[in-house]
Amino acid sequence: MEYKIALIPGDGIGPEIVGEAKKILDRVAEISGHTFTYEKLLMGGCSIDAYGEPLTAETLAKAKASDAVLLGAVGGKVGNSRWYDVAPSLRPEAGLLAIRKGLELFANVRPARLMPQLADACPLKDSVSGNAFDIVIMRELTGGLYFGTHKTETVGGLRTATDVLVYNEEEIRRIAVRAFEVAQKRRKHVTSVDKANVLDSSRLWRSVVAEVAKDYPDVQLDNMLVDNCAMQLVMNPGQFDVILTENMFGDILSDEASMITGSIGMLPSASLGSGSLGLYEPTHGSAPDIAGTNTANPIATILSAAMLLRYSLSLDKEADLVERSVDHVLDAGYRTPDIWSEGCTKVSTTQMGDLITDAMLKEEY
Ligand code: NAD
Repeated sequence: MEYKIALIPGDGIGPEIVGEAKKILDRVAEISGHTFTYEKLLMGGCSIDAYGEPLTAETLAKAKASDAVLLGAVGGKVGNSRWYDVAPSLRPEAGLLAIRKGLELFANVRPARLMPQLADACPLKDSVSGNAFDIVIMRELTGGLYFGTHKTETVGGLRTATDVLVYNEEEIRRIAVRAFEVAQKRRKHVTSVDKANVLDSSRLWRSVVAEVAKDYPDVQLDNMLVDNCAMQLVMNPGQFDVILTENMFGDILSDEASMITGSIGMLPSASLGSGSLGLYEPTHGSAPDIAGTNTANPIATILSAAMLLRYSLSLDKEADLVERSVDHVLDAGYRTPDIWSEGCTKVSTTQMGDLITDAMLKEEY
């Protein structure tokens, strides 16, 4: 098969880490016989420099016409007046919101995985959660509190602020379907997180998720209140497979889950819509402090490429191969500086990409 992949390296370390992920995709093509054609696009600060705006309509149209989009990161040093002395809608990060909206992506998928090889990086390693865990958080991205009406007015002489939380059943159904589909490719367990003891929107959420669950009898569904979930994530993260939740709860829980892994350079993400087109990117930023030094960890971007293979191209076997090769290289003790510890071999960005590309030839396909 032939697939069109849009590559958006972005700013800072973006070009370095996307370059390594492309090496991996090239190796997948070589091993599998599929053909990947790439279109390199500008977004963020580099697009501001070239076109005066962080995302042009032409770039968005090209991204839309591809089968999947792989993004590095955008943004410069905070306080860089060249990109930041303008209205928020013209700053590098505005490109991110615009592309997610333009591609109609409503589901944010963030795995938080503590690999046994990196268990020492977990800030909770001495507590009960020191065991390896592997969670995916499915966060609704385009509805809820962040997209309701917001206003501040004076009522009875007091400044009063109102934020409205709205969900309709269709918005809930489409992300629930995505969560059950993802769970089917994993350990077949969805925990739907809400605040149904207080909020009407949560009660609707719970009933729609229960309806969707009937179509997936092979997947176990549990409900959990968000306050309990925040606690359980710290106490026993190993109990979770897929956590399905609304926008604001997901914003908070996905940051909590990623922090308990302790390694920002390792965490991939995907934003999905109702079709197969998705946007894949590491959860970290453009790390301008280390840009150009060949020290950035490319693994979050390489694992994002694995998600791209699995969720947009349905190449599950190839995604597994990439993930197993990453494990293999970590098992062999190779580390970029951000995850290095005593007794391990320190390697550069490009060396890490080469090691994983080589490991793919040794793994069973
Ligand atoms: P950051 O994630 O870029 O960096 C935080 C720290 O983690 C830095 O010390 C950095 O060196 C380190 N780090 C990040 N990724 C790494 C990697 N792959 N390997 C090794 N070390 C890594 O966050 P920040 O410093 O707050 O933001 C820098 C810029 O990135 C800002 O302009 C910000 O707006 C932007 N940003 C972009 C995205 C995105 O494109 N999705 C997300 C977050 C921040």
